[in-house]
Amino acid sequence: MKVLVLNCGSSSLKYQLFDMTDESVLAKGLVERIGIDGARIKHVKTDRDPVVTDVPIPNHKKAIQLVLDRLLDPSCGVISSLDELAAAGHRVVHGGDRFATSVRIDSQVLKGIEEVVPLAPLHNPANLTGIKAMVEVLPQLPQVAVFDTAFHQTMPPRAFVYGIPYHYYSENRIRRYGFHGTSHYFVAYRAAEMLGRPVESLKIVTCHLGNGSSITAVDGGRSVDTTLGFGTVPGVLMGTRCGDVDPLVVLSVMEAEGMDTKAMSHVLHKESGVFGISGVSSDLRDVEEAAAKGNERAQLALDMLVYHIRKYIGAYAAAMGGLDAIVFTAGIGENGVDIRDAVCRDLEFLGARFAPEKNKVRGKEQIISADDSRVAIMVIPTNEELVIARDTVKLVLTR
Ligand code: AMP
Repeated sequence: MKVLVLNCGSSSLKYQLFDMTDESVLAKGLVERIGIDGARIKHVKTDRDPVVTDVPIPNHKKAIQLVLDRLLDPSCGVISSLDELAAAGHRVVHGGDRFATSVRIDSQVLKGIEEVVPLAPLHNPANLTGIKAMVEVLPQLPQVAVFDTAFHQTMPPRAFVYGIPYHYYSENRIRRYGFHGTSHYFVAYRAAEMLGRPVESLKIVTCHLGNGSSITAVDGGRSVDTTLGFGTVPGVLMGTRCGDVDPLVVLSVMEAEGMDTKAMSHVLHKESGVFGISGVSSDLRDVEEAAAKGNERAQLALDMLVYHIRKYIGAYAAAMGGLDAIVFTAGIGENGVDIRDAVCRDLEFLGARFAPEKNKVRGKEQIISADDSRVAIMVIPTNEELVIARDTVKLVLTR
C-alpha cells in the first residue's frame, strides 16, 4: 500500500511517498517558490542523487502534477501507474477544537478546516489549497487530514483556558491549542516502545526543540499540557520567536514605538528568540560558535534556552505528579549535544541521572541516562510524516 504524504505551505510543498508494507520511504522531495519566479522541484529517489528541475510552477495544482510526474518518471520515479497510490495524507496545522483526531477528508471536513482559518491565517489556507489541488488532480484518491493540534485536545480546561474573562474562550475560542502534536505523539509512543513499557503507565516530558520549539507533558499517552498556546510564540525561546513574555511588555513596546499589531507580531515572530537576544543568527550552530568565541549575548541566548527547557521539565513533572522519561527531538533536540548536556546535568533530584558519555549522539535513537537512572533520558528522532502515513492507512482501511 503506497501513501503520498503532503505538507503544503503557501509557496512550497514537501512530499514523501511511503510503501506501508514495510513503512519505507520510496521517494521524497520539495517544491519551492510556487507562484513566484525561480520555482523548482527537488526530487530524491531513496539512495539516489537528488534531481533538481527549474520550471515555472504557477500554482499548487501544477506543483502536484509535477510531483506525480517525478514519481512516475522511468529514471527517477518509483511507481509505474498512479493506480499504485492508495491514498494521500495531508499535514494540516490547525484543527481548532473541532478535530481531536485525524480524519478522512470530505466536504464537511473541508468546511471545518476553513472555519478555523482565523486561528491559523498563514497556514490553514495553504494546507487547504494543497488538499483542493490534490482533489482536482486525482479526484478518486482517498485523502486524510492530520492536524498539528489534535494530540493536545486531551488537555484539561485548567491547562488550556487563559486567565482572562471567560467569554473570550467561550465566544471567541481563545485558548491554548498547542502545536507539534504529531511529533510529541510519535516520540512519546516510541519512548514507551523503547522502554518496553505501556505508554499508559508513563509520565513523559517531550522536548521538541527546533527552529520552533515546544515542550509537552504526556501523561498515560495523552497530552495534558504544552508550551505553545493560542499561537506559536509562547514557551521556550525559539529561533526567532520570543517564548514566554509578560503581555504588558507587548503593550508597552507597542505604545512606546507607535507600533500596530502587524508590526508587533513581526517582532514577536521574526525578530526575537535566539536571534533577537544574540544578534547573531536564529540557527543554534552559529550561536554556539559565536558563544565559544566569547560573544556574551550569544552565550546569554544559550543560557536562556537551557534555563527555559529545565524550567518546563520541572514544571511538567510537578504538573503530572511524577516523571518516567524526558525525550529530546527535532533539530536541536536530536543534534544539540551541548544543549542536552547543559539541560540534563544536575537533574538527579528528579530521579534523572544523566550519562554524559552516552550523549555524544546526533540524529539517532539513544538512551542518554545512566543504566540505574529511575527516569530515562532519551534522544528520539521525530517522524511526523510516518505518523501521517500511518493515520492515513488506518482511516482508509477502516471505511
Ligand atoms: P528544525 O526546525 O527541527 O529543523 O531544527 C533546526 C534547528 O536545529 C536549528 O537551530 C539548527 O541550528 C539546529 N541544529 C541542527 N543541527 C544541529 C547541531 N548539530 N547542533 C546544534 N544544533 C543543531
